[in-house]
Amino acid sequence: MNAQQRILELRAELDLHNYRYHVLDEPSIPDVEYDRLFHELKALESEHPELVTADSPTQRVGNVALTAFSQVRHEIPMLSLGNAFEDDELREFDRRVTDGLDLPSGDLFAAAAVEYSCEPKLDGLAVSLLYQDGALVRGATRGDGTTGEDISVNVRTIRNVPLKLQGTGWPAVLEVRGEVYMSKAGFERLNAAQLEVGGKTFANPRNAAAGSLRQLDSKITASRPLEFCCYGIGQVSHDIASTHIGNLEQLKKWGMPISRELKVAKNIEQCLEYYRDIGARRAALPYEIDGVVFKVNSLGAQRELGFRAREPRWAIAHKFPAMEELTELLDVEFQVGRTGAVTPVARLKPVKVAGVTVANATLHNMDEVARLGLMIGDTVVIRRAGDVIPQVMQVVLERRPAEARAVQIPDACPVCGSQVERTQLVKRSKGKETVSEGAVYRCVGRLACGAQLKQAIIHFVSRRAMDIDGLGEKSVEQLVDEGLVASPADLYTLDYEAVVALEGFAELSSKNLLAAIDNSKRPSLARFIYALGIPDVGEETAKVLARALGSLQRVGEALPPVLTYLPDVGMEVAYEIHRFFEDEHNRTVIAQLLERGLQLQDEGEVHPEYAASTSLAGMIAKLDIPFVGPTGAQKLVAKLDSLEKIISADGIDLRQALAARQADAVREYFLVPENAAQARAVEAQLLAFGMHWTSSKRVVEGLPLTGQTWVLTGSLEQMSRDVAKEKLESFGAKVAGSVSAKTHCVVAGPGAGSKLAKANELGLKVLDEDQFLSFLQTL
Ligand code: NAD
Repeated sequence: MNAQQRILELRAELDLHNYRYHVLDEPSIPDVEYDRLFHELKALESEHPELVTADSPTQRVGNVALTAFSQVRHEIPMLSLGNAFEDDELREFDRRVTDGLDLPSGDLFAAAAVEYSCEPKLDGLAVSLLYQDGALVRGATRGDGTTGEDISVNVRTIRNVPLKLQGTGWPAVLEVRGEVYMSKAGFERLNAAQLEVGGKTFANPRNAAAGSLRQLDSKITASRPLEFCCYGIGQVSHDIASTHIGNLEQLKKWGMPISRELKVAKNIEQCLEYYRDIGARRAALPYEIDGVVFKVNSLGAQRELGFRAREPRWAIAHKFPAMEELTELLDVEFQVGRTGAVTPVARLKPVKVAGVTVANATLHNMDEVARLGLMIGDTVVIRRAGDVIPQVMQVVLERRPAEARAVQIPDACPVCGSQVERTQLVKRSKGKETVSEGAVYRCVGRLACGAQLKQAIIHFVSRRAMDIDGLGEKSVEQLVDEGLVASPADLYTLDYEAVVALEGFAELSSKNLLAAIDNSKRPSLARFIYALGIPDVGEETAKVLARALGSLQRVGEALPPVLTYLPDVGMEVAYEIHRFFEDEHNRTVIAQLLERGLQLQDEGEVHPEYAASTSLAGMIAKLDIPFVGPTGAQKLVAKLDSLEKIISADGIDLRQALAARQADAVREYFLVPENAAQARAVEAQLLAFGMHWTSSKRVVEGLPLTGQTWVLTGSLEQMSRDVAKEKLESFGAKVAGSVSAKTHCVVAGPGAGSKLAKANELGLKVLDEDQFLSFLQTL
């Protein structure tokens, strides 16, 4: 292909990408790829200047505006910026600037340095705001630099765009220019909300900002988290200041948002320092930037330097290494994790992204594969931001080869050959179960699956679990592969001969490992529960289970609804825990662990806070009987004070306590034998666990503490103040923050001060925590 053909080809391709990027806000390739094509065209054109035409993308800015909006002509064109990646390119820019300026001759030996303004390069879209006599009269996009779109209505919805300038002294005509962008947090929120309603998600904050601003319905724009940052001026009826920074600072006084990161650099080396400083803080900034912008600070010097076709000679964007790159998806492999989840992983043709070679990227689950529409052989956009694991963002459909293959989840586990099943999501609502398909596939092999076994053991020995030091991943793999360990319990059968034969183990390290295994035999209950690796049970949940239920036996026996009384344990997790302990294999492993000398350290009673956390009414409310919430349940229990009475009550009895439709729902619910059996089982277990069953003496007229005002002061040790307050309120008391003659009773824990003194002064009833707990039991 000759140069002319290639030039035409590149122009056509760049035109298409410009259109997708600037008009549709839907680029299909990452910026680096666009820049590569752009530079190739530029290089060819500079070799063949006779082939340069005015309509070449190298001579133009952006793209023609969408006709859906009315058009706006920019009196002073809105240009693009030249860019530099390397330090030397920046020094080259400085040389061009210095050469282009007729600088006053300073010191004979030192070249006069040019002063620059330094600003972050926000990744959004350029907007022009026209103020007449201090009032915002028009907002426009950059468009192709000469003609933009009139987006006045939309711009007005951006919260930090002033509709009127503050103060005085502004020029009668003032065109402010700046970037409309979306913060990282705003972008995440928007995409999450879009996903929820099945709407379109955006590839990055820039596209999201552009797509949100260029909406025909300004209500949509108003609902999007857009922000504005001013970085310059266009048309102006009289000069403001003599420097760029001077202009911005004055604009700030008139109410215009400007960057907090604005700085003046005395010379180009200080610009490089600024670049490095912002670069180091890039990930921590609340908005995305793709570089920094340096501008000659003196406006006189800017005028002297002037413009080229598509960019000013006095400014440059110093870009950061791109976070997105293109590469080929060679294959999708499936990894098996600790809980058996079979996860697709992208094997990529290695590519450098922001200085690091990337060859793999997680694909999360099969739903994500479907969302991306991924096929093996595709060219994909991958993104590596900060320390975040590389992600596949998008497929470049135009580059899909004919032989691309679909990604298929294997039927059999790639490690052990057991069946791979799709997880079921069980939702329970209003006493009914609905089952839907989950996004996760699991190998059913459990510990018979080498991959799960290895991961389970690595987790079991990890520092926050059983804390067995000296057993690295490699050794675990070897132990499993050689059949020395088939469950975590087998670790406790290892002897010196077996360990010293492992790769990398010598006499001392073997002894140390065996000592570490021995030392791990007295874990706390919480550590042990965590070490078991129950799906969805992290360290925090393990602590909650241990603290509230106090014994492994109770944790293992607890019915799912009983578990949901624990803080942060929802039905899903409750079922995971229950299933784990019901599993025959898991039971055997736990029994073996205990037989092989493991002693749990801190087993004890059910925690009083947990014991006090429910009532019969609370339990009924949790059954999800249609129309029966906490208030309905309270009323029901006030009338029929035991579960048996409620189960066997007829319609008439129920209607004395509840509205007709509630009464019918209760009756219908308990007519289903499984529902009644389940409620009985839950009640029996709650009582067996020592819950304070509080409803049996409830008086019909109302709640036992109705009309009373209580005050809690000092710290409570056995239950939190919040729980105490809830308890009191559930019995009808009002809990107040200050003591008065009307206070019925004060509960005073250690550290109680003025409120207790006042209660004593007024001769009020005062209970300490123990007395309070016993009192609750009498209700
Ligand atoms: P640019 O985005 O590189 O630089 C100019 C723009 O920077 C200005 O218009 C302004 O909006 C913005 N800016 C941010 N902070 C600024 C500040 N402090 N001072 C001045 N301006 C500031 O140039 P461009 O012409 O808008 O677009 C070219 C870019 O778009 C390239 O990065 C290119 O890769 C990308 N692009 C990508 C595709 C694609 O398909 N992926 C297509 C076209 C363009």
